[in-house]
Amino acid sequence: MTKEKMLNCDDCCDCCKYVAIEVDKPACKKDYSDFFWYLLHEDISLFIDHDNSWNIEIKNPCEALDENSKICTVYEDRPVICRKYSLDICTTHSTGEYYKEKFDTQDDLKKYLDKKRIDYRFKRLPR
Ligand code: SF4
Ligand code: SF4
Repeated sequence: MTKEKMLNCDDCCDCCKYVAIEVDKPACKKDYSDFFWYLLHEDISLFIDHDNSWNIEIKNPCEALDENSKICTVYEDRPVICRKYSLDICTTHSTGEYYKEKFDTQDDLKKYLDKKRIDYRFKRLPR
């Protein structure tokens, strides 16, 4: 992400190819239904991180990457979140996964909820 990091990163830039945003932990059937809706969309995942926070992950590259997706073209003016990113939280260099649970499809999430015995099914579907 930073110039020094990019030198250490072998032109990786993987951390510039998605957006992850923390979302409220689902608390009701409507929330689970909303999460199923997210997961029905292409290139959207949900994950629970090691702090038990729920996050939505959007696999979409930053438009500031160069044509080879290797260099940040707005490096001097890059956003704060990019400046704060460090190899300590780099998903490429970390030994473990960045998530405790990850859901790429609504079936992934349904299996997890069934395993946890969380009832997400509406008795009567809302109109
Ligand atoms: S994902 Fe890690 S290795 Fe890749 S550019 Fe970002 S900080 Fe560097
Ligand atoms: S602004 Fe630059 S460092 Fe930040 S995500 Fe985009 S390409 Fe990566």
